[in-house]
Amino acid sequence: MRAQIKLGRIFGVEIGLHYSWFIIALLITFSLAGQFQENNPGWSDGLRWGISIVTAVLFFAAIVVHELSHAMVAKFRGLPVRSITLFALGGVAQIEKEAADAKTEFWMGIIGPITSFVIGVVCLAIAVALGWTPPEFPQQPLPAMLMWLGYINIGLAIFNMIPGFPLDGGRVLRGAVWWITGNAVRATTIAARIGQVIAFLMIIFGLLQFFRGAGFNGLWMAFIGWFLLSASRESYAQMVITEGLRGLRVGDVMSRDFPVVDANSNLQTFAEEHLTRTGRRFWVVMLNGQPEGIVTPHEISTVPRNRWPYTTIADVMRPLDATRTVNPNTPVTEALEVMARQDLNQLPVVNEKGLAGLISRAHILQVIQTRAELHL
Ligand SMILES: [Zn+2]
Repeated sequence: MRAQIKLGRIFGVEIGLHYSWFIIALLITFSLAGQFQENNPGWSDGLRWGISIVTAVLFFAAIVVHELSHAMVAKFRGLPVRSITLFALGGVAQIEKEAADAKTEFWMGIIGPITSFVIGVVCLAIAVALGWTPPEFPQQPLPAMLMWLGYINIGLAIFNMIPGFPLDGGRVLRGAVWWITGNAVRATTIAARIGQVIAFLMIIFGLLQFFRGAGFNGLWMAFIGWFLLSASRESYAQMVITEGLRGLRVGDVMSRDFPVVDANSNLQTFAEEHLTRTGRRFWVVMLNGQPEGIVTPHEISTVPRNRWPYTTIADVMRPLDATRTVNPNTPVTEALEVMARQDLNQLPVVNEKGLAGLISRAHILQVIQTRAELHL
């Protein structure tokens, strides 16, 4: 989720908006205006809309504070935080690494709901101090605004404590199980399963409500459940990969034997003898026994077919020093990120002596599978 509009920095964390945010901001402003009209018919149109807009802005400010609380715990525990983005379904703090220990995971998760809860209680307390007597609907603008902010922030705290990824409660549950059992993988599995069960229950309950005549509210609940279910599957898969590769370096999993091709051979021979026969998609180009570059079907396809007999591999190869490489000490997760970012399926591994091996996505997947099978 990348921000398209940048608002500035707080504590070194970039705050931004995704375009989808405008939809929810409009929806919230309109729904507030509707509620104020119903409960405060004496207000003028200008007052009603003014209060609705200010309330909506403060609501999003409270979400930023909620996300900032996650970011501050992450920073305090040594995890780099890139940015906070507001989008259609709330806010998200981009924390660049997964927590390395249970306590960090637990506190990083629970601080958000605590923050929202405190904001909510403070708003309600100020509203009462200003003369609001619950459960009446306040007629003065300021208490009315504070009451709404108080309820919605407490609601946000409760919603976020639902123990399913990617909600904070999922993180808290995972951190707690990890803390107690000392086993990160098991904690991930247990938290993910509980999250999925809850998401299923929300869908079923929401649909039941809908068919009993609850209308939109029932559908909304089913929708949130469905969203939680798919989001939890994704973050679970991501976490399994990160867990499976924790501590692994490129040097541990790279393949040291890689297919080679001579720089002086022409494309025709290369295509006939290697390309169309082996199904491989990546060769190291050797010149005088030294690796000089790499070649893939992509480079070959840039040359017209009738020129193949007159073009050498050296003419079309990507020179090694112009290719993105990793070294044997690079964490495997980082190599995967590089491949994803550059849309590559493999990377040459280079140490101080030159080419040391190859690492590919397919190979990393096999490593994950094998390790999962052996419960490593
Ligand atoms: Zn949160």
